[in-house]
Amino acid sequence: MSFVESPQINYYKALPFESDFIVSRADYEASIPIWQRAEAHMAEDERSIFESYSPKNDAERIQKLAHLTQEQQNYYISENVLSYLEEFAGNVGVKKLSGIVRSDGVLEMVGTNVSDMYRHAAATAGYGSREWHEGQGLDKISEGLTSSCNRALWVSPPKFADYGFAFVFMVDEYDKALNGRPMRELLIRYDEPRNTTYRSKEIFQKMNALIGAQTSRPTSDIDFLHNPILYNSQKDEDLAYLYDLVGIHEQDIVYSEQFRHKVLPYIRPWLEEYMRVIHKMNMRTLNKGDAVFNDLEEKGKQLIGAMFNTARIINRTLRQEKTDEYRFAQDAKQMKVFKYDISDPRTLYLFAGSMAKYQELTISGSSCPVTQMAEMDTLTNLVQGGYSIVDSMQLIGGKSKEVCVTCPHCQNKKGNLQLDDKTYICGNKRCPSNKK
Ligand SMILES: [Zn+2]
Repeated sequence: MSFVESPQINYYKALPFESDFIVSRADYEASIPIWQRAEAHMAEDERSIFESYSPKNDAERIQKLAHLTQEQQNYYISENVLSYLEEFAGNVGVKKLSGIVRSDGVLEMVGTNVSDMYRHAAATAGYGSREWHEGQGLDKISEGLTSSCNRALWVSPPKFADYGFAFVFMVDEYDKALNGRPMRELLIRYDEPRNTTYRSKEIFQKMNALIGAQTSRPTSDIDFLHNPILYNSQKDEDLAYLYDLVGIHEQDIVYSEQFRHKVLPYIRPWLEEYMRVIHKMNMRTLNKGDAVFNDLEEKGKQLIGAMFNTARIINRTLRQEKTDEYRFAQDAKQMKVFKYDISDPRTLYLFAGSMAKYQELTISGSSCPVTQMAEMDTLTNLVQGGYSIVDSMQLIGGKSKEVCVTCPHCQNKKGNLQLDDKTYICGNKRCPSNKK
């Protein structure tokens, strides 16, 4: 299933994917091609945020989202910016996928029609197959979320590693401009040995009891897929309870929502200007590299920088990191830019520039060049590589990272994932390394 049995693993292991990699020097020299050795010895501490966030990519993303309305495109781009801020400025660890439950019942995730994908997979695999049960479950979820429910919980027992998932779909009120309900899906992981469902059953039954739903009790993997729990929640007590059940600190999810709500009002004028810049960049992609394009790209970076530093300050304030009194005082002083009207077009870039320069725009980090919207690219790549939707969600939610490597078995470059235990899963389901 994973690349682990392959001798090539030594080659992979020597690559500097993670800053905490410990590999002896001898291993490096023996297993890394000469052209990559210099990179392997590079300092891995601080990297520019623009190695992992690129306005140019957002502009290209607009083309992939060309079938959507401008409001929908903007929704996904702003979700992309916000989730980047959450992860890298707010240190929020909860994995999320964003989407829209359209009023015609179509489930869309980051611009991709997931309903089409799973219905096609179910039809190909046939009645009673795993894909068919999965399709039934997803149909129930989209039906529920278009009508009376605002939450769906889908328990998915372990498949690729010794953990299962609780997928929580949360929708907001219908949004006319989006022609549907904005949706976030939390990918919540819990420990459970492979080929067992004891904990999965416990989580399902306790949540079922809390919510008072009349869902039948699943006994097999397929039953779980077929039977999501649909319900309404206004106060997030379901999330608190679920987090307690899976043993994750409830603080994390509460913080993630709190952080987003605090940051957004401050950065909104910059975020809106960023959309305008991205659309202009998209219009000019044919002339990529010309002076106008470069100027727009610089503007985009300045706005991202301003939003990033604002989010960092808010994060420090919310987490009450008062250990550094000097920084705390400086932060308070810097936040005074928001006393002015930062949305005024005459001064917008003046304030954005000041905020972007406030703190060096680096993070300690990953060596993959661009990770933004990685979840969505990964989801699409995995589904195209033959994985079902729920399997893809499991792979993404396993804190696994898409890494820039070529599979030694089938030369596939897309959607290859590195799991927590440093093993790899090929993004191509038909790859020999995925045969059990
Ligand atoms: Zn492969």
